[in-house]
This record gives sequence, structure tokens and C-alpha cells, in this order.
Amino acid sequence: MADGNPLQSVEAALAALLADVAPLDAERIECDRAAGRVLAEAVTATLDVPPFDNSAMDGYALHHADAGQALPVTQRITAGTSPSPLPRGECARIFTGGEIPPGADCVVMQEAVTLIEENVQVTGDIPAGNNVRRRGRDVAAGAPLLPAGQWLEAAALGHLAGQGITTVTVRRRPRVALLSTGDEIVAPGEPLGPGQIYNSNRPMLERLLTRFGAEVVMQAAVPDSANETRRLLRQAAECADVVVTTGGVSVGEADHVKAAVGELGQLDLWRIAMRPGKPLALGRLPRRGEGGEARFVGLPGNPVSTFVGAWLFLRPLLGALLDCPKLAKLPTLTARAAFAAETGPRRHFLRVRLEFGPEGILAHAFRDQNSAVLASCIEADALAVIAEHGRVKEGDAVHCLWLQLP
Ligand code: AMP
Ligand code: MG
Repeated sequence: MADGNPLQSVEAALAALLADVAPLDAERIECDRAAGRVLAEAVTATLDVPPFDNSAMDGYALHHADAGQALPVTQRITAGTSPSPLPRGECARIFTGGEIPPGADCVVMQEAVTLIEENVQVTGDIPAGNNVRRRGRDVAAGAPLLPAGQWLEAAALGHLAGQGITTVTVRRRPRVALLSTGDEIVAPGEPLGPGQIYNSNRPMLERLLTRFGAEVVMQAAVPDSANETRRLLRQAAECADVVVTTGGVSVGEADHVKAAVGELGQLDLWRIAMRPGKPLALGRLPRRGEGGEARFVGLPGNPVSTFVGAWLFLRPLLGALLDCPKLAKLPTLTARAAFAAETGPRRHFLRVRLEFGPEGILAHAFRDQNSAVLASCIEADALAVIAEHGRVKEGDAVHCLWLQLP
């Protein structure tokens, strides 16, 4: 697409990127290794949690109608022991998590009883169910525990363990190949020659992709040579579901990536009405070995464009491959602008720090929003979205994409 053609919307590019993406295969893994993975199948509860009525307090278990009488303490129930039935007119010493004995229906906390000789005296009316955690209150056997598409984090892992579950069926992690293009790009650890710069994009993307649930299976620096570009793209397509390149997608540039992707597979070039990151290349690369094809995403080389492109395009793509709605869609929030901004024909994604105060959320824009200034991303909690031909004054409400992990 030549320069001068109308700009296309972020939404149109996303739709093209996500068109007919199918979720990856499922695999069975140990729950101990399942953090950051996505359930491929819903899990149904087989156990009530808690599995029995138990005490929410350290205190005394009794029948509520016996409140007001002096009750002998006839048993002691600690968590993990099995109680005996409690006859009327008696009470049981019970500790938090201890099983409510048959015959009792409430617990009075220890601070609220009077001990008269060996007997316990409770004053006032105690309702049935007082301080009792009912069987099945958290999870009822037969009820849905976690849905397919659930991103597994701390509480979900705890919920699985609460059912005694040790293995789960999750999506295979998307395999990503990362190719950093440019003769000027040098890996840290190598000496830096004249005109060269270190590769910031590789570790940044590798970290983001890993946190978005992917596995980086190949990474390579691609010199500005047609043969090397073709060779490395082919190699990447063989081992990856997604091939990501950085650099060399600007319109009009003498570039080997666009040519090679077009030769090997299919290429769509986009000029997106966004800043940073106007140029974006999307495409497909056939796989000779296994068959099928790898998705190709060519991000611009500027580190900020790479960073923003990863959040806006790679994360939804991984979300689709993992069939995980929470990953696919960035959370949004509305904040008050602590800055002023004006845009032209391109939508701006400003790197902002969020300040959560008593009067709401304030968005502070990093002072230098240039796409070569990676420092703007370090403290960024969100991207404030300023619409095409938009204008924001200090104090205005701004829509923000929250750079939060699922
Ligand atoms: P390009 O999109 O190839 O024109 O690159 C745009 C700018 O980003 C140029 O100044 C490149 O030197 C720079 N750049 C490209 N790739 C990287 C990288 N991996 N790390 C840091 N800067 C890069
Ligand atoms: Mg380049």
C-alpha cells in the first residue's frame, strides 16, 4: 500500500489479524506447572467445599435453643478431628475449621461466653447457623468450578487444589519466533561498532510474550540481506505458530522482510491511523514440515512502537490462539487527564502513569512521547487513547487501556 493512501483503523487491522485464528491444541499438565496457562476445558466441582459444616470461630458449639442455660462442655473439637453427636443441653469446645457436631447448629465465640465452674453460659438469642460455615458454601459438588478459557492464576490454582485436582487440560502455549531485523542491531555482550545500537526489542518482546502466555522458541538477528531474511523466516515458520519481526516495515523503505514474506507466503501491509506504530505488516508463512501456516506480524522497529504493538496486536492474537477472552481484550478504565493533547488524523496512544487518589484516577502523561523514547514505557501503567482529530484538556475524562496482565 503506497504512502498517500488513506490510513486504516486499528479495529480493521485487528480484525484482519484475528480472522480465522483457531485455538491451539490442548494438553494435560500438572497443576503445579499450570500458572499462567489457560484452561482448554471447563472444570466441574466433584466435592463440596467446605466438605462439612465447620466453625468460623474459636468458641463453643451448641443447639441455638439451649442458649441461656448453663451447658457442660462434653467434647473438644479441633480442626481435622471427627466429632461425636452432641446431645441437647450440652456444648462442645470447638476451634476454627472444626467440624460442627451433629445436633449442634451454631457456634458462640469464646469471648462471648461466661464460664461458671465447668459450665458455659451464653446470654441472649443466638440464631441457628451463627458462625457456621456451611458445607458447599464456597463450591457445591456438581457446580461449574472454572470455565474453559480461564487464565490460571493464584486463586484459580487454589480452587483446583481445593477439589484435590492434580492435573488440568490447558491450551498448548503459542510458539513464537522473534526476528530482530537491521544491520545496525547488535546483541548486548557484543562490542558496539559505529552506527550500531543494542537490541532492546528482543528482551522486551520476549518478556511481554512470555507474560502473555507464549513461549519464545526461536530468536535471531536478521541482517539486511534478502537471502538471510528468507532463510530465517522459513526456519521461523517451521517451528513457530507466530513469527514476529521488528523493524523494516516502513512504507517506501528498501526492505527485505516485506519482499521475503510476500515471496514465501502472503503479505498485507497496513498504514494504521495510530501513533506510535503506524506501519504494520501482517501475513502468513506456509510450513513445509508439519503443514499449515504460521502467522506473521511485522512490527515497526522503534522500541516504543514495538512495545505498544505487542500490547495492541500480539496480546489479542495470543488471546485468540489460547481462546482466552481475558487475555484477548485489554481492560479499560476512565481517568482524568493531568495533561493536554491534540491529535491529527492518527489516534494517539499516550504512555501514562496512573495515580489512584480519593477523587478518582489521574493519568499523568510521560513528557516525551516520541516513539524512540523507551523510557516512556517503563513507568507506563496505561495507554491513554486520544481519538483521531481529538483534543484533550487537563481535567477531561480520558479512555485508557490498562497495561495489566490477566
Ligand atoms: P525500522 O522500523 O527498521 O526503520 O527501525 C526504526 C528505528 O528503530 C530505527 O532507528 C532502528 O534502528 C530502531 N530499531 C529497530 N530495531 C531495533 C531493536 N531491535 N532495538 C532497538 N532499536 C531498534
Ligand atoms: Mg531497519
